[in-house]
Amino acid sequence: MPRRVAHLDMDAFYASVELLRYPQLRGRAVVIGGARRLADEVTDPARLEGSLSRIAVSEFPRLKDYTGRGVITTASYEARRFGIGSALGLMKAARLCPQAILLPADFAEYRKYSHAFKNIIAEIAPIVEDRGIDEVYIDFTEVPGGQREGGRVLARLIQKSIFDATGLTCSIGVAPNKLLAKMASEFRKPNGISILTEGDLQAKIWPLACRKVNGIGPKTDAELQRLGIQTIGDLAQRDLQWLIDHFGQKTGAWMYEAARGRDDRPVVTNSQPVSVSRETTFAQNLHAQRNKAELGAIFTRLCQQLASDLQTKGYVGKTIGIKLRYADFKCVTREQSLACHTADASVIRHAAGLCLKRISLAQPLRLLGVRAGALRRPGECVAEPDASAAAKATSVPMTDSMSADGQLF
Ligand SMILES: [Mg+2]
Repeated sequence: MPRRVAHLDMDAFYASVELLRYPQLRGRAVVIGGARRLADEVTDPARLEGSLSRIAVSEFPRLKDYTGRGVITTASYEARRFGIGSALGLMKAARLCPQAILLPADFAEYRKYSHAFKNIIAEIAPIVEDRGIDEVYIDFTEVPGGQREGGRVLARLIQKSIFDATGLTCSIGVAPNKLLAKMASEFRKPNGISILTEGDLQAKIWPLACRKVNGIGPKTDAELQRLGIQTIGDLAQRDLQWLIDHFGQKTGAWMYEAARGRDDRPVVTNSQPVSVSRETTFAQNLHAQRNKAELGAIFTRLCQQLASDLQTKGYVGKTIGIKLRYADFKCVTREQSLACHTADASVIRHAAGLCLKRISLAQPLRLLGVRAGALRRPGECVAEPDASAAAKATSVPMTDSMSADGQLF
């Protein structure tokens, strides 16, 4: 049987989840971003039940009244018509669409719906690969209906099942592999299905910008453009050796295959997240020296939140990473492996502190993040030969400034 792989992407996911509880905002420009929802706003959900949909539209905050440095996480399709979308600064977006309604992100709610839609898919098609809160790959090859009309029959069933159970729409691309399916899911958004076969390569894939290939980022794309390559079709005109000469053995060979729509990566069922992270964008840029105490406190709090996220979700992590964004938006990350898996805030803080030592802190900072990877369930944790290092790390007292050695924050 020919391989059929689907990529499913929820439509404007965060905004769509918000519209479920605020149906009065349907058809309006809505953006999600800025501060997280305050805990006290949701302390009494029972009292609020049903009343959320009665809040007058005029009561909702507008983008034009926002001050701060938050960015948009999701914009409704109505808002996108004004040219605003993910990662755009809220104050910049306000100039394009001042009347848009601004809602804070409620990740607990989005996770709930994320689990719900993924469970629905898994009941229909067992091989599902989690690609984040709002997207998955699904192996259609051997699922009933997965080959009919190139996969359209199964895609339609999944779309309808998700909508009936949650009220949310999604877009699905079905193709011979993940690479093409990912591109196809964007063709008919929102609430669309696109079926791609090998024969569609020239007509549907080659006219697309190289940037549409998952794996060609802005840097590589700029380099390709410099070399006169705009579209995937242009890329397919170059021979293998030319690509290897310009982009190295690995990337060059991969590009050669990608331009021909070839990709044999399997759909991997992963029942657990790859990593858990916490990050924060500061209200103002902070400097490692001048704002040492403040940064130290933020850093410690992120580690505590990360530890608590791990504990809530029931994971322990073995690699601890940090992410910094400088005032000029350049981003750096560092990672540190632990001897043993952990969900302990002080162990995480210590490892994250070691990562920080490997980064230049001369420039002011905009954002700080901490991440735990190589996750396992605590029970699955195998004792490793050198557990003593972790034991030592555990005994490090948790302090906001690791200034004992006169260095950080
Ligand atoms: Mg999406």
